[in-house]
Amino acid sequence: MESLIGLINRIQRACTVLGDYGGNNALPTLWESLPSVVVVGGQSSGKSSVLESIVGRDFLPRGSGIVTRRPLVLQLHRTEDGPDYAEFLHLPKKKFTDFALVRKEIQDETDRITGRSKQISPVPIHLSIYSRNVVNLTMIDLPGLTKIAVDGQPESIVGDIENMVRSYVEKENTIILAISPANQDIATSDAMKLAREVDPTGDRTFGVLTKLDLMDKGTNAIDVLEGHSYRLQRPWIGVVNRSQADINKSVDMIVARRREREYFASSPDYRHLASRMGSEYLGRVLSKHLEAVIKARIPSIQSLINKTITELEAELDRLGRPIASDAGGQLYTVLELCRAFDHVFKAYLDGGRPGGDRIYNVFDHQLPAAVKKLPFDRHLSIQNVRKVIAEADGYQPHLIAPEQAYRRLIEGSLGYLRGPAEAAVDAVHFILKELVRKAINETQELKRFPTFQAELSAAAVEALERFREDSRKFCQSLVDMEAGYLTVEYFRKLPQEVEKGHPNNTTADRYGEAHLRRIGSNVLQYVHMVCEMLKNAVPKAVVHCQVREAKRSLLHNFYAQIGKREGKQLAQMLDEDPGLMERRSACSKRLDLYKSARDEIDAVVWDK
Ligand code: GDP
Ligand code: MG
Repeated sequence: MESLIGLINRIQRACTVLGDYGGNNALPTLWESLPSVVVVGGQSSGKSSVLESIVGRDFLPRGSGIVTRRPLVLQLHRTEDGPDYAEFLHLPKKKFTDFALVRKEIQDETDRITGRSKQISPVPIHLSIYSRNVVNLTMIDLPGLTKIAVDGQPESIVGDIENMVRSYVEKENTIILAISPANQDIATSDAMKLAREVDPTGDRTFGVLTKLDLMDKGTNAIDVLEGHSYRLQRPWIGVVNRSQADINKSVDMIVARRREREYFASSPDYRHLASRMGSEYLGRVLSKHLEAVIKARIPSIQSLINKTITELEAELDRLGRPIASDAGGQLYTVLELCRAFDHVFKAYLDGGRPGGDRIYNVFDHQLPAAVKKLPFDRHLSIQNVRKVIAEADGYQPHLIAPEQAYRRLIEGSLGYLRGPAEAAVDAVHFILKELVRKAINETQELKRFPTFQAELSAAAVEALERFREDSRKFCQSLVDMEAGYLTVEYFRKLPQEVEKGHPNNTTADRYGEAHLRRIGSNVLQYVHMVCEMLKNAVPKAVVHCQVREAKRSLLHNFYAQIGKREGKQLAQMLDEDPGLMERRSACSKRLDLYKSARDEIDAVVWDK
């Protein structure tokens, strides 16, 4: 049974080491679910004195004003033999046997966080005391409730203290040790006011009455101690601590405890209550009660821990693993990211994801429609044919067939094909660009790295531009090739009517309508033939230069660039959203805490 308090002590220490002091809603808190005894009371009500009496040692800072400015988690460990000593969590290697130095260390450590400004801080100080004269017990000392700021403390300190104290006593798992001085009307007690607010049934409040020895002659606190003036579920406990004069004379704590026992045993007012009065008794009651509360809460703490571990692990999965700090690991991450992107991008092209089909649409619809719209009719109108022939013939009309004019008319017509070919190149380029954009958005792994995402996207688009340029040149060459060398076969097969059928040709006949129409129609037929050819060849060229290259070598240049980068540049490229990085490290720290708490509890529970 005794190990239960020790168990909670270990988990409490882990909480502080891993930054869980409760009160931070952004992360799950284990600290707040741990049962603890919290000491509350107005200033000079005797809080420090009660703690020291329970410990049997003189070790807390004293003075006027707000001395306790950080929570002090005081963990008492009963030992069988050996001298008393103390240890701080923040000084793990150091054993204090001189308790005056413990007091000084508490003061120094308080200032270390709060500075000289005398502010308060929620970061607890953990102090463990090992002694034969203590019971196993953990108590948290908090700043005393106060009404006015002194010593140049900010005005807000009054409210800040109340909020801090409240955040502790509000928790269902907190046992409230409410300290009130007997020489003051209980109705004005700050401790009881707060306790009643957060624990109206008085189920988890222990009322402690100090300074019984300082009451006016002829008065006593029987009404309070017997529970008549203020009802609590737990019996009230009266204590008599050292007076200021005792403190000044350094009266030994063990001597003070004996005197306290004698006080109750010999007091005519309290003799009948003597067996359940005094600080030693208080320590024993609290120890037992804390054990019982812990025991009752362990199952719910365990299920909370398991639930939180699942939640934190799920969140960490979503956030992704942290990136390596060495250049090799970073390069690996970069390549992994590229691979992930490439995988998604290929799915768009090869099917599996929609979008690649739009490329076929360009070849099947857009290109033929554009070719169909070309103004061959206008170019091969009788007027234009006549004009071209006349220009080509010059002063000497052609004799048999207008060879020169044929060439010019064909060249001119084929020139129009550049437009649709280039449009096909561009259309496919824009589709590919759109698919790159989609693939980047759809690659989950990239979401973490906005900088890298931008670089990858720029590199991919740059590569697509290069492919477009190659493709454009290639398609132009296809058209130029057709214009540059005509298929002789075709013209040889044409019926040679002009020469054979009209032996009496005149120059006028050479420019006659029938003749011109025939020439136009011959050219048009040839051009149509070439169009059919190019409607097949352009898609092949486009796929070869753009689509195939996008699949094969979209990131080749990028890889080459990355290979030349140094560790620092890689790290810069992989800079994550800082908020996300913070969140990940906070979550993984918290996860460590919950896991170690789970192991601690399992070890103790299995032991039983
Ligand atoms: P805190 O501000 O609540 O921590 O109060 P302290 O423990 O520092 O006590 C304030 C003053 O009251 C000190 O001078 C103590 O010696 C004195 N005091 C506390 N409890 C008792 C008591 O039971 N009897 C007497 N005579 N003095 C006490
Ligand atoms: Mg004090």
